[in-house]
Order: sequence, then C-alpha cells, then structure tokens
Amino acid sequence: MIGLISATAAGAAARDRLASAWPSRTRVYEGSVGDAVRRAFTECEQVVCFLATGAVVRLVAPLLRDKHVDPGVVCVDEAGRFAVSLLGGHEGGANALSREVADVLGAEAVVTTATDAVGVAGLDTLGVPVEGDVAGVTRAALDGEPVALHAELAYPLPALPLNVTPQSIHPAPDAVPTLPQALDSARAGGTPIAPAEPLPTAGVRITDRVVQPADREVVLRPPSLVVGVGASKGAPVDEVLGLVRDTLRDAGLSPLCVARLATVDAKAGEPGIVGAAEALGVPVVTYDAGTLAAVTVPNPSDAPLEAVGTPSVAEAAALAAGGELLVPKRKSVRADGKPAMATCAVVRSAPRGRLAVVGLGPGARDLVTPRARDELRAASVLVGLDQYVDQIRDLLRPGTRILESGLGAEEERARTAVAEARKGQAVALIGSGDAGVYAMASPALAEASDDIDVVGVPGVTAALAAAAILGAPLGHDHVSISLSDLHTPWEVIERRVRAAAEADIVVTFYNPRSRGRDWQLPKALGILAGHREPGTPVGVVRNASRADESHRLTTLGELDPAWVDMMTVVTVGNTATRRIAGRMVTPRGYRWQHPVPDTTDHTGTTPKESS
Ligand code: SAH
Repeated sequence: MIGLISATAAGAAARDRLASAWPSRTRVYEGSVGDAVRRAFTECEQVVCFLATGAVVRLVAPLLRDKHVDPGVVCVDEAGRFAVSLLGGHEGGANALSREVADVLGAEAVVTTATDAVGVAGLDTLGVPVEGDVAGVTRAALDGEPVALHAELAYPLPALPLNVTPQSIHPAPDAVPTLPQALDSARAGGTPIAPAEPLPTAGVRITDRVVQPADREVVLRPPSLVVGVGASKGAPVDEVLGLVRDTLRDAGLSPLCVARLATVDAKAGEPGIVGAAEALGVPVVTYDAGTLAAVTVPNPSDAPLEAVGTPSVAEAAALAAGGELLVPKRKSVRADGKPAMATCAVVRSAPRGRLAVVGLGPGARDLVTPRARDELRAASVLVGLDQYVDQIRDLLRPGTRILESGLGAEEERARTAVAEARKGQAVALIGSGDAGVYAMASPALAEASDDIDVVGVPGVTAALAAAAILGAPLGHDHVSISLSDLHTPWEVIERRVRAAAEADIVVTFYNPRSRGRDWQLPKALGILAGHREPGTPVGVVRNASRADESHRLTTLGELDPAWVDMMTVVTVGNTATRRIAGRMVTPRGYRWQHPVPDTTDHTGTTPKESS
C-alpha cells in the first residue's frame, strides 16, 4: 500500500489525482501531518509526501530502522514539478515510484542514488540475492577503483562498469571443495565454510558455495542449484526441510542459490515437499516417472520403483534438466529411529545464458516499449544492425559490449548472438519494428538450442505504425506480405498475393520496392486489382514515426509506384474499405453501425449485407 500525505490545498489536489489514478494501491492519511507520516511510515510499504523534503526528513528521522525494512519515501513539491526519491531508492522501490508518480502528475522524477544516476547496474538490483558490503563495493565501482570480479559460475549479468574486471570465469579445480572434503570437514567438527581468498581490492564474487564475504566484497547468489527430493506419503515438512538444509550445509552450499525443488509427478501435492519449498521460497517442479526412470543415476533402488514407477526420485529429478551431481542421494535421519521418510540430492545446473530478442519499434523513441528499454539495460552484450544500434546507443549501460554489423550479415548476427548467450552472457539481439517480423528472431531461434533462455520483447511493427497514421485500415482480417524475393521465390509470393486477393483480405506489403526490384509491386497490385475496384483505398506510408515521415492516401487505380521505396509500407484495403474524412477505414461489419458511405458497387462485409 502507498500512503499519501499532504498539508496544503495544492498538495491535497495533487494527492487526490494520485489517489484517483491508483485507487487500489493508495491510502490517504488525514489529520496532523506529523501523526499521518508516522502512521503511514509503519503501515505502508511506500509513502508519498506532498511536503518539502526538509519537513519529511525531520519527521521520518526518528522512525528510521534500516534500508531492508524502511518504506520507500517520495516527496512532491508544492508546485508538483518534482517527484523526489528521498529514502529507500532500491529496496524500498522509491526510485521506481518517483518515476511513476512523475508520470501521473506530469512532474520530473529526481533520483540521486548513484548507480541509477549514472546508469550503472546496482549490485542489489540484479535480481539475485546478494550478501556482503553492497554499499562499499558499489562506491568503489562508481569511483573507478579496480573491482575484481570472481565468477565461479557463469551467470547472465547486465553490463558492469569497465573497472569491474573478470579474474576467471570458472573456478580453479581446487577452489570449490569437493563433497568428500566438505563432509570430512563437517564430520571433524570443523566449519564447512570455505574462507574466501583475500582480495587486494574491492570484489564481486559469484558463487553458490557458502563463503564469508571478505571486507569490501559482495557475494552474488545465482539460482544454480536444483534439489531433488523424494518423500513417503505423510512425510512431515520438518523432516524434508531439515534434510535439505542439513545436506546443503554439509556440502558447503548456499540455500540462497536453490532455484527449485524437483520430484516425481505423483508427489506434486505431497505436503512435506510443498511445505519445504514454501519455506525455502522456491517452486516445485515435477517429472513423470517414465522420464525419471530414463535418467542414469548412481544410486537406484527398488522401493521407489514399486511405489512410483522409477528406480530413483531424488537423484533423477535433480538431474532431469541436466547438470552436475554435487550431492548423491541422502536420507533423512529421524530422532525416533523410525525409517527415513525423505531423500534428497543436489545438482548444480549448467550455466544458462539469456537471449532477449528485442523489437525497437518503427523509429520514434516513445514507441520503444518500457520492456524493451529494460531488456537493453539487462544486457551485457548487444547484437544488431549498425543503424539500429545508433538509435538506442544512449539507452545502454556503460560497459555494454556492442557487436554491430552491416546489412546482409543477418546470419552472422544470429549466430553471434546465440554463441554469446551460450557462453552464459546476457545478450540483447535487436531489430526494428517487431524483431520477429521479417527480422532476426527466426534465424536466431533456428540456431538456438535449449541450453539458453530466450525472451521475446514485442515491438510496434511497421504495418501497425502505418495503420495508425492512415486511420483504421486493419479493422478486419489482414495479412502482411513481403515482396522481397531475395529469400523467397517469386512464385510463392505471387501465390500468397493471389490468395489474399481472392479472400478479400487487407494486405500490407513490406519490402515493397527497391532500386533493383521494381516490377514486383505493380505485379502484386495488378493481382489485387483483379478482385477489387480501382477506387479501393491504398495507404502509402514512408518512414512511419521517424523524423521524415510522410504518407498519402490514394487508390488502387491511381497509386504511382515511384512514391514507394524500401522505407515504405503499402496497405491495400479490402472491398469494404472506405476513405472517410481523409482517413482509411475498414469496417468491422457491426450490425448496429450505420452503413458507411459506399462509393462502389461492392458490399463486401459492410452492414448492408446483413440489413
Ligand atoms: N521488423 C520490421 C520489418 C523489417 S522488413 C518491422 O517489424 O517493422 C523491412 C521493411 O519494413 C521495409 O522495407 C519497410 O517496408 C518496412 N518498414 C520498417 N520500418 C518502417 C517504417 N518506420 N516506416 C515504413 N516502413 C517500414
């Protein structure tokens, strides 16, 4: 809940605008300002004060505990010009909230957290648990001091500043204690905690081992571990959870790195497993018995084979998605000496890189979606056509590795992007419009294997950007056809144009005409003209949403191909499409609608047909 507090009439007006914009997220605190701030501070996750920063500082100072529990606080000035993130920028969410408040009020967000201000990824905003001296190491990174990055595990991090230098991507073989070493140490009564090597400078360590962060060191905890669990019917939560915790501790592995518990389908609802997963804050994934029976494991046995149809549950479920078995099957030990009811095994997953396929929209900066921006900032490697890279260079984090290439290098770009992701990197592959429409997504995904994570970010494709300029030409069934016969034989293209013509579908032509390719567009329009009147509206849009955007609305009979080039899309209406008040409109055919002015003999799907 977001608590809202104001003192003046202007403040109250701004407060009410926010409250009506977010009715279910906000609560207005009335009464004396001091009292209201104190109540909101303890009752809400976030607080917006329509008060001077100085006043708010004095009021909240006695209430501060620490940044992990204090709410995020945003101040808005009397004139409503600024939304200042005052307290809890990251963990309290005040930086993000200040931007949201600014959007609603038409104000400017003021964010002073150093990492946000200079565009560097905050170590506590990487989406993985973090331990150690976050403030000290962040300071060092921002001050340009050398910061050593010890990545014992590959994990797809966003770009880090250039002074953060990798020391080694994989651990030296003796850096990670083997299980027998860890168990020996535990049995001997010693601590299984491996000491971190002393660091000469500030450092960032990525590991799933239990380590005590050194001075000026931050330890990032990627979700690298899968714990396979088996449980007899009715096994208590404490027994399953205790076994998992003890096993990780004895192996010197951090519970913060557990990504999920894995088991057999038949145990999906077993309360002991479900409860243990809840306590660890991880999901349960399950596999069918046949899949588990096919996994080669070191310790198969007869009991689970009889009970659930696979000779191994814990080891097989842990290994089902691949990876390295760190801890073979262990059984729980019961204080009452009765037979164990739970088993578990721990696997370290193979590192998974991340490929984001990001559509940048047709050109205008405000048609780049917020999600596309976030993905660009989550990447450490950017792959794209040089002219698209230029469009968004300023949105990238400092230190992002840019792999750009020219027109025609599509296959190479696709291969490069996938290869970088397979190394464990966070890669963004960009394309204009939507990256899946006549663009990079298909060649990239044709290359990609299932050992990387892929996310697609949709973009506004040229057909939609053009339609918005023309009016409402896509109000009924429509299709896109590329007239480029570079990779597609002309016969195939022609067959599709003919089908669209016969089916009376609105058509948007991409790649309609280039210097070397000039007969295809007239030919395609001729096919459509065989089924549509010469007066059928046609929209020609060049450089939609870019600085030199232009468009014209013409007809099938009058279109001059000389207006069209490779920066253009051409949208041809169906037999019901009309020009209304200078705009291109394809009716939905609603029965309640008045018939649109009809200038041809065709009725198509217009309301006339049904009236
Ligand atoms: N992925 C892109 C399409 C790439 S194919 C998208 O989704 O939009 C390239 C063709 O798209 C160009 O020849 C042109 O026909 C069309 N195109 C791309 N951007 C355009 C724009 N801003 N205005 C008009 N046409 C555009």
